[in-house]
Amino acid sequence: MSNAAAKPLPLFALGISPRAGILLPRPLKGPYDYKLPKGCNAPRGTLVAAPLGTGEILGVVWGEAEGSVGDNRLKEAQPLEGNPILPAQLCDFIDWVAQYTLNAPGSILAMALRSQAAFEPQGVRIAFLRGPKTPARMTDARKRVLALAEDGLARNVASFAEEANVSPAVVRGLIEAEALVATELPEFLPFREPDPDFAAPTLSSTQADAARVLVSDVGFKRFSVSLLDGVTGSGKTETYFEAVAQALRQRKQALILLPEISLTVQFLERFAQRFGVRPAEWHSDVSQRERRRTYRAVMNGEARVVVGARSALFLPFPELGLIVVDEEHEQAYKQEDGAIYHARDMAVVRARIEACACVLASATPSLETYVNATSGRYAHLRLRNRHGKAQLPEIRLIDLRHARADPGTWLSQPLREAIASTLESGEQAMLFLNRRGYAPLTLCESCGHKLTCRNCSAWLVEHRYRKRLTCHHCGFEMAPPPQCPQCKAERTLIACGPGVERVAEEFSGVFPNARVAIASSDTMQGPNETQAAIRAMAKREIDVMIGTQIMAKGHHFPQLTLVGIVDADLGGSDGDLRARERTFQLLHQVSGRAGRAEKPGLVLIQTRNPDDTVMKALANGDRDAFYAQERASREATHAPPFGRLAAMILSGGDGDKVRGAARALAEIAPKARDVKVWGPTPAFYSLLRGLTRERLLVQTERSVDMQAYLRAWKTAAKIPNGVRLTVDVDPMSFF
Ligand code: ADP
Ligand code: ZN
Repeated sequence: MSNAAAKPLPLFALGISPRAGILLPRPLKGPYDYKLPKGCNAPRGTLVAAPLGTGEILGVVWGEAEGSVGDNRLKEAQPLEGNPILPAQLCDFIDWVAQYTLNAPGSILAMALRSQAAFEPQGVRIAFLRGPKTPARMTDARKRVLALAEDGLARNVASFAEEANVSPAVVRGLIEAEALVATELPEFLPFREPDPDFAAPTLSSTQADAARVLVSDVGFKRFSVSLLDGVTGSGKTETYFEAVAQALRQRKQALILLPEISLTVQFLERFAQRFGVRPAEWHSDVSQRERRRTYRAVMNGEARVVVGARSALFLPFPELGLIVVDEEHEQAYKQEDGAIYHARDMAVVRARIEACACVLASATPSLETYVNATSGRYAHLRLRNRHGKAQLPEIRLIDLRHARADPGTWLSQPLREAIASTLESGEQAMLFLNRRGYAPLTLCESCGHKLTCRNCSAWLVEHRYRKRLTCHHCGFEMAPPPQCPQCKAERTLIACGPGVERVAEEFSGVFPNARVAIASSDTMQGPNETQAAIRAMAKREIDVMIGTQIMAKGHHFPQLTLVGIVDADLGGSDGDLRARERTFQLLHQVSGRAGRAEKPGLVLIQTRNPDDTVMKALANGDRDAFYAQERASREATHAPPFGRLAAMILSGGDGDKVRGAARALAEIAPKARDVKVWGPTPAFYSLLRGLTRERLLVQTERSVDMQAYLRAWKTAAKIPNGVRLTVDVDPMSFF
């Protein structure tokens, strides 16, 4: 990452009609000039209402005006009531992210202003208290309400009615009779402060060693990055909670990023057990109202700890002392649409700008982070053992070339035997296959035709429970056709390959009495159902869970002793530079579900490539061997983190136009030393949601200022109407 120094903050002297450059949350080149009211002192970050066209828009004082337009032609922007100001560090961060990702600063600002309602003045809630009068006519219902009101708590009509078990009309009658009187309460309940000493655990000596480093990093109040590198179940969370406690003691705020919303419910509970209250929450499932409440509370310092998804990185913390990125290797941290950015990398940047500590936690760090940690750029804190009596599971490979039961079946004999003995001893098993639906491909036996999506160059996936063929990219669906669309033969369409539904079908045939559940994002609607399945599993209402990666992470099932990986070779060779790393991470993560409590765990991995380094490293528990090999191969090919990559993606409805634009873009690529440009080539999914896609890949040495190169190129490019150019710096996906 390049090192853009933070700009000095211009302050506006008191004066007459000061001017300012105001950034609007729109994809514009830069700030626009505005006048400010006479005598107004509006530092960088000041929120204003700025006239735009015929209306008004929320904007932020960003810097000095360019100054070429005469005073009389400038429109006047008004600071918002209450004078809210975005912290200067957030403004610097927005500039940094914009320049790094080649986005307009206004597009990044838009992410930081997600809750525009947050700036409206706080409203009031009307509630009622016991009043001076007692009504002449008393009924039992009225008596119950007034008895309730004796506790002196203000309640609204609905609460009185519910708690006293009367109709709202009874309550309204009492208000009319002045037996209850109105009072005003602030619109929002305040956030309660987490208590750093509420229930501190006794840490093991290795945990305590790591915690001590993190605590002192927070204490130094300067920029630091640590990799908390601990095996699954080693107590990484307990350990970094000590750093959170330290931030709280120092009156600093803390931000904990999680890769997926489905993990937050369990996490919030765990946080509450440690700190006495739930933290503030920030992700796409949080209601508008709650966002308004949280945004304000973050900005005025009332919310001390926020747990959230990647978008929480753009919240206006005035006194941030710690950022934790849990499961830092997760690909979910890369935002792939709108402004493309990697939240883990940007978390490190924000920590640098805030001069605070950053903790990256993982059992299987990304290679980038691993290299930074082993080269000494980040502190490397290792927890090599599981906490308490729990042992790491035994991992065995099953060579599918020899052990396959019958054609068209997916559970080998050794796996079936292991499941049988697990069930006999009353323990639980999980079968993992990272494929939703019944079968990934439907093929005509007679002519070989494959059923594909009409909007995407992708196969349609059969979902047998729902009796649909669906596209996992655009959502297109259809009923399975009665005949082959190509050769019109009947009853020739066959399902190829396994999905979780098909494995479940086979499983139930072999183990008809076992209680089984399928866990994948389309059999479970949203975080609540996922939670319900997790609870059912924890309460042992389910014997065997058959799931996709939705079940791979973070969950703790004490009775789960067997994990079977149905097809470890999936996704191992799709030409993506991180495919091997991801396979390793995912399989390692899934394996980590087994034997988390006192009973030992067993993991069986079915593969056709038992000699592959990924499989060997898993089976031998030799993670570092895998990293060493992966590192060497990236170094040899100048792949990240040893070189830099950026993708230029052109997309549009008219295929010829897109291909033409891609060729034209390639032709004007600036010549530069240590920069290679590959392509254009059709993207892996050359048709996606009806759009044709062409890709160019830029590869440079680490010493090259990639952003400067890309900006020069992008500025010179003339992209025709109807074609869109997306720049993806540090691409994670090569589709
Ligand atoms: P990781 O995040 O490394 O996978 P966790 O932090 O989830 O590990 O810890 C695994 C389990 O061990 C959790 O149930 C946790 O509460 C428990 N645990 C870890 N460390 C301690 C400790 N020092 N005292 C008590 N329980 C602990
Ligand atoms: Zn599609």
